[in-house]
Amino acid sequence: MNAPNQSGWKPEMETAAPDTVAPTHTGNRALMLEEPLIFEIGSSANTGVDLPEPGSGAANRLGGMERSDPIGLPGLSEPEAVRHYTRLSRQNYAIDLGLFPLGSCTMKHNPRLNEKVARMPGFADVHPLQPQETVRGALEVVNELAHWLLTLTGMHGVAMSPKAGAHGELCGILCIRAALEAKGDAREVILVPESAHGTNPATAAFAGYRVENIPATPAGRVDVAALKARLGPDVAGVMITNPNTCGLFEPELKDISDAVHAAGGYVYCDGANFNAIVGKVRPGDLGVDAMHINLHKTFSTPHGGGGPGSGPVVLSEALSPFGPLPFTARDQGGVVHLVEEEDAAAFGHTQGFGRMTAFHGQMGMFTRALAYILSHGADGLKQVAEDAVLNANYVLRSCEDVLDAPFGASGPCMHEALFSDKGFAEGFSTLDLAKALIDEGYHPMTMYFPLVVHGAMLVEPTETESKAALDQFIGALRSVAERARAGDPALKQAPFHAPRRRLDETLAARKPVLVWQEPVSE
Ligand SMILES: *Cc1c(COP(=O)(O)O)cnc(C)c1O
Repeated sequence: MNAPNQSGWKPEMETAAPDTVAPTHTGNRALMLEEPLIFEIGSSANTGVDLPEPGSGAANRLGGMERSDPIGLPGLSEPEAVRHYTRLSRQNYAIDLGLFPLGSCTMKHNPRLNEKVARMPGFADVHPLQPQETVRGALEVVNELAHWLLTLTGMHGVAMSPKAGAHGELCGILCIRAALEAKGDAREVILVPESAHGTNPATAAFAGYRVENIPATPAGRVDVAALKARLGPDVAGVMITNPNTCGLFEPELKDISDAVHAAGGYVYCDGANFNAIVGKVRPGDLGVDAMHINLHKTFSTPHGGGGPGSGPVVLSEALSPFGPLPFTARDQGGVVHLVEEEDAAAFGHTQGFGRMTAFHGQMGMFTRALAYILSHGADGLKQVAEDAVLNANYVLRSCEDVLDAPFGASGPCMHEALFSDKGFAEGFSTLDLAKALIDEGYHPMTMYFPLVVHGAMLVEPTETESKAALDQFIGALRSVAERARAGDPALKQAPFHAPRRRLDETLAARKPVLVWQEPVSE
């Protein structure tokens, strides 16, 4: 299988590596344009707009508070500013450019319907300080989305306000803490499997708990016997990811939950991988007490540049009373209500631990996620999970003869395929393979995570990729894997075709330059 172009057309390949070709006068390479820092283009002496000189009247109004030295911001004309940011944007990789294989992150296509709905004036123009009567429609969106999140998870209540998965984890752990404190039960330990995402132990520690690791079995799942053996009166709860970060479903979660509950603790489920099971499994049926749902993963709202994250937390009946305000829960009749400070007492929601955010959360993400859920419907969401799992298994089985799949024998994977660097030539690493994948035109997969696998590569193709797109990616992945096994020396110098070659991975973090100084002339 050799990297066919999707259409079968293959471009004439360059014969010489770009750095052996004479450099251009501009430093540009065809449409790949060089771009300096904005401070290097502009100068504080320039300005893109004509402002009247501040006369003596202005000085009087400022009462002597006017600035005497230039602030040091770069001045650019409007086209210079537009071109700077447009050029930078062209150096980005995005889901709208191609397959984005980052595992654990669920980089889904962001449907344009979501964007259309979020831009409707009634949603786009609301302000958090508007009187409640004027935003009934927006609040109804929060309610309706809460209803579907509760329906899909089989849980009792949901805090919609957390602004990301990690923020949701904190919310869930604070609910557990509040529930234990209400019983006068001061437990100190949270158990976390060693394959967990780094945010899990960080959250537990941030909330004041001591974190203890639970080992994994050789098959890549939680060691249930070790977990049960550790339960006791000091254990506040466990944080478990299901499907886990090795890409495997934890079939014993119900058994684990029962044991944790019997020992007086609570079960936090990291729901970042919900995409693999949405519409198929309800975490509430598995005994989960709290779980965050990354709307920017499972429910297709944009990551990063296109908008902020959003991490609503669904809660069991046992934890719901301790959820933060505003809070959304079903009443006796099963109808979902949004509860705020004013009506908390009437609704019986009096033990909430506080607030996670000033307002209701990420409104623009709520409208997008609801548009996604309603446009798919129950059957469509189920198919999302099935297709995501099918695509990941296609990648796994298409590559396992050239890339070691440490848990390939554990059965089908869920929505992500995990490989290791076993079998690479001496001195060749996952990093080398990832850099070569950049030359192939792909953002690399998640690397060196989960930590339990040496040189881990976690590939999550998501459900919307066609077979042709997957075949092309598989071709690229197989090609770079074969080069890593053969020890192709060029792999050590990749990428050749990117705007920059190999960068110092840590320099910017270790020696940040935080203050711009204009170069001194002469
Ligand atoms: C993404 C992710 C998180 C954190 O979610 P954010 O929204 O990035 O804060 C936690 N756990 C797992 C397994 C994840 O993939």
